[in-house]
Amino acid sequence: MPHTHRLTPNQPLKLDDIDPDGKEIFDDRDRAEAEFEQMRDQIIELQYRLYAENKQSLLIVFQAMDAGGKDGAIRHLTKGINPQGVHVASFKAPSKEELAHDFLWRIHQQTPAKGKIGIFNRSHYEDVLIVRVDNLVPETVWRPRYQHINNFERLLHDNGTRILKFYLHISKKEQKERFQSRLDEPHKNWKFAREDLNKRQQWTDYMVAYEEMLNQCTTDYAPWYVIPADQKWYRNYAIAKIVLNTLQEMNPQYPPPEDNLDQIVID
Ligand code: ATP
Ligand code: MG
Repeated sequence: MPHTHRLTPNQPLKLDDIDPDGKEIFDDRDRAEAEFEQMRDQIIELQYRLYAENKQSLLIVFQAMDAGGKDGAIRHLTKGINPQGVHVASFKAPSKEELAHDFLWRIHQQTPAKGKIGIFNRSHYEDVLIVRVDNLVPETVWRPRYQHINNFERLLHDNGTRILKFYLHISKKEQKERFQSRLDEPHKNWKFAREDLNKRQQWTDYMVAYEEMLNQCTTDYAPWYVIPADQKWYRNYAIAKIVLNTLQEMNPQYPPPEDNLDQIVID
């Protein structure tokens, strides 16, 4: 079950074949929401152990089109986790200083230390997405980045970092509805950005870029998952399931206590 939505290296997928409204692992909203809460409690407990163990880390990457639900997914997943044990990094258009370095320079600084869960809201993958679609650099520069990314993620993996990558897959129709509610509901107005409409015009180009990114950069050590994300409850459920399963596999242990604790008397 945890392998549902996970891409297999050398088995290229077509995004058109994946239903953004699909509900492969659960079709019952009420039960999914209840189970989600239970899974999150288990995630909180495992994160506490990971922090105590201080030997391995987990990196979770989120990518999506605008209004794809990255913020909501992160908010739901991390609610209740000890803030000292998680680090969320959001990647915007690079600064002058960042552009003066290689594209992974700013990313590497935000990778999780041992004992931590690191979450990327956008990531190094923007450098083969918006950068490709908007022709910010020539193909001779962005194309080799797939290999650079795979090598970089291998380095993180070899250093004790488990990597999960989630592409939140929404339909163009769902994006329209979410944009519309940002216009209609005053407390959501702040989320509306005119520039997002330009990116909506480039939808097809983005899907081509996403598809190639997913196929080039899904590896055994850093798999991509395509999460059907039109339904927020399903998105949250599927992500929690995969994160929980991964933390269980990582199986963090409390460090052994100091000797003879039972003989200590505190006066
Ligand atoms: P929100 O959901 O709040 O809108 P956001 O992630 O869209 O969050 P914005 O500040 O709206 O944040 O947008 C960040 C922008 O930075 C995105 O359009 C993204 O494509 C762009 N960006 C991120 N990384 C790069 C990069 N390496 N090169 C160029 N643009 C980038
Ligand atoms: Mg935005």
